[in-house]
Amino acid sequence: MTRYIQLQGHRGARGLFPENTIEGFIRTLALGVDVLEMDVGLTADGQVVVTHDPSLNPDITRAAGGEWLARPGPMIGSLTREALLAYDVGRIRPGSAYADSFPDQAPHDGARIPVLAEVIGLDPEIRFDIELKTFPLHPEWTASPGEMADAVLATLDATGAVPRATVQSFDWRGLRHLRARRPDVTLSWLTRRSTGVDTRRWWDGPDPSDYAGSVPRAVAAEGGPIWAPEHHDLTAELVDEAHLLGLEVVPWTVNRPDDMRRLIGFGVDGLISDRPDLVRCVLDAEGLTVPLARSGPGIIRAG
Ligand code: MG
Repeated sequence: MTRYIQLQGHRGARGLFPENTIEGFIRTLALGVDVLEMDVGLTADGQVVVTHDPSLNPDITRAAGGEWLARPGPMIGSLTREALLAYDVGRIRPGSAYADSFPDQAPHDGARIPVLAEVIGLDPEIRFDIELKTFPLHPEWTASPGEMADAVLATLDATGAVPRATVQSFDWRGLRHLRARRPDVTLSWLTRRSTGVDTRRWWDGPDPSDYAGSVPRAVAAEGGPIWAPEHHDLTAELVDEAHLLGLEVVPWTVNRPDDMRRLIGFGVDGLISDRPDLVRCVLDAEGLTVPLARSGPGIIRAG
């Protein structure tokens, strides 16, 4: 049996196209991934929008007059969907550290923050990995985890996309809420060392020390089925332990070919990457299945 490694495009393909935008997702589908990874928040009028930060990010956001935001904000949750449409998120601010991190990102001026249903409508078969962005240490920044999870579920139900979706979060409260309400929704438990500092709050109770220091055991105790660790936290032994517990292991955010090869060697089940083009090259070179390029009926290729 040929081994299969799922390729997830992080925020679409942040290294190549404007993150979390329709234009970026369309180009990512045309490039060929298995899964579109994205982040969500709730607007003041309860719309699920696809964006990473709890407030508008000055590194990628211009106001209606074309001027760059001087500082973070306003908060996504303070703006209606209509108000949010005034902002252009199609280009990284030239000269910023963020631009240095993604020098190959091609801009698409005019790109707006989309609603989740628009992204789901792009392709009838592609899978989605939807990250609930809530913050246990800052409840004032966003809707509650339960509210956000319910709003995402409503969109997934309305679009018939539950079978094609995974919901992930560092804040395990939203995931537990979904599991209790709808066990048919696939969940992915995000972890990283920085949240390990305050794990009892991010995990709302448990801590690795409750599992002899084992993060995969903590994820298995939640029912899995997917563990999504920061890739530097992974070892071959941890991947083996997770597999013995029945978990799939899908690390983030893997952008360098040497890291991709190392993690494939560990036996991971998927890779989340800002550079799915590079992952495709590595998969091909390793003799592994490379995802098909897609252009579904909902997709209009921009020139
Ligand atoms: Mg994310």
